[in-house]
Formats: sequence, C-alpha cells, structure tokens
Amino acid sequence: MVSADIKSQTREQLAVKFAEWGQPDYRVDQLLQWLYTKRVAKWEEMTNLSKPLREHLAAEFALHTHELVRKQGARDTTQKFLWRLHDHALVESVLIPANPALYGEQSDRHTLCVSTQVGCAYGCKFCASGLDGWKRNLEPYEIVEQVTAIERWHDAQPEELERIDGTRKSDRAINNLVIMGMGEPLANYDNLLKALRILNAPWGAGIGARKITISTSGLAPRIRQLAGEPLQFRLAISLHGATDDVRSRIMPVNRKHPIAELAEACAYYQEKKGRMITFEYILIAGINDGLDQVRPLAALARRLNAKVNLIPYNKVDGLKWERPDERSQENFLGALEHQGVIATLRREKGGDIDAACGQLRLKTERELKDAPVKTSR
Ligand code: SAH
Ligand code: SF4
Repeated sequence: MVSADIKSQTREQLAVKFAEWGQPDYRVDQLLQWLYTKRVAKWEEMTNLSKPLREHLAAEFALHTHELVRKQGARDTTQKFLWRLHDHALVESVLIPANPALYGEQSDRHTLCVSTQVGCAYGCKFCASGLDGWKRNLEPYEIVEQVTAIERWHDAQPEELERIDGTRKSDRAINNLVIMGMGEPLANYDNLLKALRILNAPWGAGIGARKITISTSGLAPRIRQLAGEPLQFRLAISLHGATDDVRSRIMPVNRKHPIAELAEACAYYQEKKGRMITFEYILIAGINDGLDQVRPLAALARRLNAKVNLIPYNKVDGLKWERPDERSQENFLGALEHQGVIATLRREKGGDIDAACGQLRLKTERELKDAPVKTSR
C-alpha cells in the first residue's frame, strides 16, 4: 500500500503523531519549515531532525515531489509546467507573470493556476481537459506540491522570473492562486479543501484565502457547501452562456444544475460571504457571442452583483470552435458595459503556448506516444 504523503497532513494531524512518538511539539514546526519554507525534497536534508525521527517519518509517510517533464513559455508570457505524478499521470500548472495591466497594481509576485484532477468528467464541449474523460482526483499533497514544486524551481533559479517578466527577486514566487487548471475543483471537494487549508495556513504556504480563487462549472450544491466554510475564498463561475438553451449546448452540467439553480447558489454564497463573484465568459464565435446573450447576462450579473470576465476562446486542436474577431469581442464588451455591468475583456497573452487548461497535457500525451518530449521555451 502507498503510504500517505506528508504534504497531505495538517499541523494538527502531525502534532498527534509526534505526541504519540514522544516528540516535543516544536519539532512539528521544524518539520513544517523544511516542507514549506525550505521546500526540501528529501528527508535527509532535514538536518535539525534526529536520524531516528527522520527514519520514523520516512517509514510512516511518503515525500513525493512532482517531476517536471515540460515547461513552455516565452518572455513576458505565462509559463506552463507539465508535471509527471508518481503513477505517471500528467497534470499542468500555469504561472501567470506579474502584470500591472491585469491586476491593477505592480507586484513582484505571481499567480499560479493549479489543477485538481487528472482529466475532467464534465465534458464541456470547448475544453481540452475533458476530451479524454476523467482519470482520477488529485490527492491533497498533489495539489499542494504544484505550489511547492514551482517555489523549488524558483529557489533554484531566482533570476529566471526576473528574466521572464522583469520582477525583482523575492523569497516566494507565488502569492495568488487560481483553481482553474485541469479538472472540476468542487468535484474533488474534500481533497481540495484540505489542500487549500495547508496552502493557506501560516505554518504552510501562507497564501491568504482572499488571494485564492476557486473556479467551478456550476456545481450548485457544492457552492452552498463552500459558503459554509470558514475560509473566505473568492468564487468564479464558468458561465459561458446566459440562457439555458445556449449554456446546455456547450456545458452538459447545465442540464443537471440549470442557470436558475446556479444563480440561487451564487446568491447564497454571496449572502454568506459578502464577496463579489466573478463570471467567466469565454467568447466562442457563433455560439455564445451573439448580442442576444448580453441582456440575460447583464441581468444575472446585476442581480448577483457579479463582475464579468470575457475571455476570447483559445483554439483547441481537434475541436471546431473559434474565437470571434476582435471587433465582435469589443462589441460584446461594449454592450455589456452599456447595461451597467462591470466587465473586462482579457486580451490574452498565453494563446501561443496552449494556455487554456488541459491543452499542454493533451498535446504531450499525444506526442509521448511517438517520441520523448523536451523542455521548450
Ligand atoms: N472546471 C473548472 C475549473 C477549470 S477550467 C471550471 O470549469 O470552472 C478553467 C477555465 O478555463 C474555465 O472557465 C473554462 O471554461 C476555461 N476554458 C476551458 N477551455 C478553454 C479554452 N479553450 N479557451 C479559453 N478558456 C477555456
Ligand atoms: Fe471540466 Fe472546467 Fe473543462 Fe468543463 S471547463 S470540461 S468543468 S475543466
């Protein structure tokens, strides 16, 4: 049997273990520092823990690290990391550079987009992540390790991020998380929440809950459950259609949880949390970019006091969908703003490197069948 990974454990769980072993509580903090501040990859490197304690830990817990199989990204753009997990499954994380135009303020840190599942069961028609179906949920440590692996990469070459986007060197690369990689986060609820508790904790990665955005395709009952959690995460809804007719055509989940039910769950979340929700709306030519969607979208956004992020569709190999031309994108934005909605149109930088979720993995899996892959830039 594979033993539990150390990065799936909360401080409370470790404290119980250490107490059983007759170890003082401050040793737990020493261990956590090795894991989340120094981010070591091996037990032997934890030099202030005694050899017997390290052996005890190694016998009880695994200490997995993700293997980087491919990195993609040009200067000034998003950097994609493709990881191989212990069972050879592939997942990706995307590091989005500090960008004053996107986030409104100059920052020396970055946003990391993390995956929560291998594949996705929800099968949205436009998305690469669902194309090959769902394989499995990620364990808490596999979500946490996407952050620690990037930090380890940054520790090893702090000048790399500076070269990419001109930011200053700092001891941590990441201070924002978006749960928008491969998979439906709320379908892996317990593992996600455990991972986020570890990533948020001061003894863990120390990323503020308000700097963590969870994106969902609209699992209404889970949105209600999330509203009951003590942590104040931001919530983004992948809407992509403002009428059931249009949304069900591209997102099968809408047949199970139609817009009215989703809107009720969002209203509940907002009432409990007092936080603004974001609607993600990909613009796909001829599918959901008609001005007939503007009025219902605006009505929904006004009712829920939600902000709308318009995202031009990123083409996926093998799928017929296209992004509308720039004029149509601007028209849609203008019409929405005219209705009194706060909206942004993402003028994407990452399109050239398969920035939309699931695309690098899909491409790599297909290429791996033919030849080994190399890191590219
Ligand atoms: N399953 C969750 C989170 C992962 S998807 C969700 O659906 O919200 C993250 C975002 O990327 C979603 O808004 C999704 O609709 C969007 N997306 C998927 N494929 C895309 C593509 N080809 N171009 C642009 N955005 C895409
Ligand atoms: Fe899954 Fe989200 Fe892609 Fe839909 S958009 S298939 S829910 S990852």
